[in-house]
Amino acid sequence: MRIDRKKSWYERVPKVELHLHLTGAIPHETLWELIQKYGGDTSVPDISTLEEKFKYRDFMHFLETWVWKNQFLREYEDFTFLSEAVACDLASQNILYAEVFFSSSRFRNEDLTIQGLAEAVRTGLSRITEIEINLIIDLVRDNGPENAVEILPGIIESKEFGVIGIGLGGNEKSYPPHLFTDIYEKARQAGLHTTAHAGEAAGPESIWSAINNLKVDRIGHGTRSIEDEKLVDYLAEHGIPLEICPISNVKTGVVESIKKHPVRYYYDRNVPVSINTDDPKMFGNSLAEEYEILAKELGFIRDEIRTMLFNAVRTSFLSDDKKRELASKLINHPEW
Ligand SMILES: [Zn+2]
Repeated sequence: MRIDRKKSWYERVPKVELHLHLTGAIPHETLWELIQKYGGDTSVPDISTLEEKFKYRDFMHFLETWVWKNQFLREYEDFTFLSEAVACDLASQNILYAEVFFSSSRFRNEDLTIQGLAEAVRTGLSRITEIEINLIIDLVRDNGPENAVEILPGIIESKEFGVIGIGLGGNEKSYPPHLFTDIYEKARQAGLHTTAHAGEAAGPESIWSAINNLKVDRIGHGTRSIEDEKLVDYLAEHGIPLEICPISNVKTGVVESIKKHPVRYYYDRNVPVSINTDDPKMFGNSLAEEYEILAKELGFIRDEIRTMLFNAVRTSFLSDDKKRELASKLINHPEW
């Protein structure tokens, strides 16, 4: 293996990512090609203006931009095209394994089915052999529990394309976890793993509900756990993992700065935390930068970073055999 000494250790070290949204990870060149395919857009006259487009005034503006971008994802072949580009981009960052969210909603073409999308995404991902990627379907809470009931059979059928779990993104405040209790139970019975965004926009009560009602394997974000001391104790005692996304939390205003991010506190209290990027091509971050800024601002040393990388392996939705295989790939990597 050729080692590029110009890259930082954070870039070179083998990594694992558990909280990443497929359409928030599309490289700009790829998105640009899709925009051109559909006739261009006056708000982005050339590719360099995409970066400007992805600067947000506030969280609502971020959501508006998210929807704007989705209008250029229309056909199955678009998903194959962007999935290959995402896998290639992640592999080039020495990410060996990732669990990636996608949803069937919020696209202009309503004929796209979960199974069709999962197959198209898998076709693109499988072209890049340097990285293994499993898929988690985001039920999108804003579509309501009825919609989730409707799409669950399609999700279960998509297991053949590497769909291993369900998640719950969207508006945490208007659609609390308990509304989805039955769907999570059914998904679990069908052998799917579970996670839910909680404690990002809403407070600790949303995390309690994800634990008690949805009985999730992991919490997406969980940033605001710190507001309830008993909850932090509970997470540590029961080993409930948090998928922490530090830079995303700063960009959306959930925390003021990395220095004020509670990840250091959770780590010190033995809550199993993994570090993730959420929507890297829309926030302008990378997994290497996440670790680097945690080292700089919160004093995480390399051994602690290795522990968090192991946490990602341990709390992934892989089988025990696959976890062991992945852990040994990390340890035996020349940059570990
Ligand atoms: Zn997310």
